Amino acid sequence: MGLETKVPSGILLTSVEKFVGWSRAGSLWPATFGLACCAIEMMSTGAAHYDLSRFGMEVFRGSPRQADLMIVAGRVSQKMAPVIRNLYDQMADPKWVIAMGVCASTGGMFNNYAIVQGVDHVIPVDMYVPGCPPRPEMLMDGILKLHEKIKAGQLVERPRKHESMQDFRRRTGWIDPVDEPSADQRTHLPQVPA
Ligand code: SF4
Repeated sequence: MGLETKVPSGILLTSVEKFVGWSRAGSLWPATFGLACCAIEMMSTGAAHYDLSRFGMEVFRGSPRQADLMIVAGRVSQKMAPVIRNLYDQMADPKWVIAMGVCASTGGMFNNYAIVQGVDHVIPVDMYVPGCPPRPEMLMDGILKLHEKIKAGQLVERPRKHESMQDFRRRTGWIDPVDEPSADQRTHLPQVPA
């Protein structure tokens, strides 16, 4: 649903990719979302002393439809898991997730039936921040590392270093437009009997 769906594959300048990554990283909007004690540290990070607005993300949005970053701050109960998934699905694409603290990352010391043992069982996680609770400096470090990851992101899939085109096709299912039969050729393909 993001810009990726609009750009034709194979013809994109790297500098455009860098510009898009830079602008995305500098304008993350987090969803207002806290589950347990870690949320207090997350709130401190947004307050005046640590000042998240330095990174273009002081606006914690009240609606998931206006947010593209979810900071899962606190343990995730089984009851809360479907709610988190629902909120994640409602967020705008492209979107990112930070698991803040040991509870969100792995369940932490709550190794029991009531707590999901890591929010990555429910939604994909881009960055894990360790600690119980992580201090605001640690959360900011995770956010800055996420910025680097976003800046390095590719708009279209490309072969990795030393990857052959054959392996690339196998991994991504990519079809070279040159190899793809034209509409005219397709009408003359032999028909497979039903
Ligand atoms: S990691 Fe520690 S501070 Fe964070 S939710 Fe778990 S128990 Fe609370």
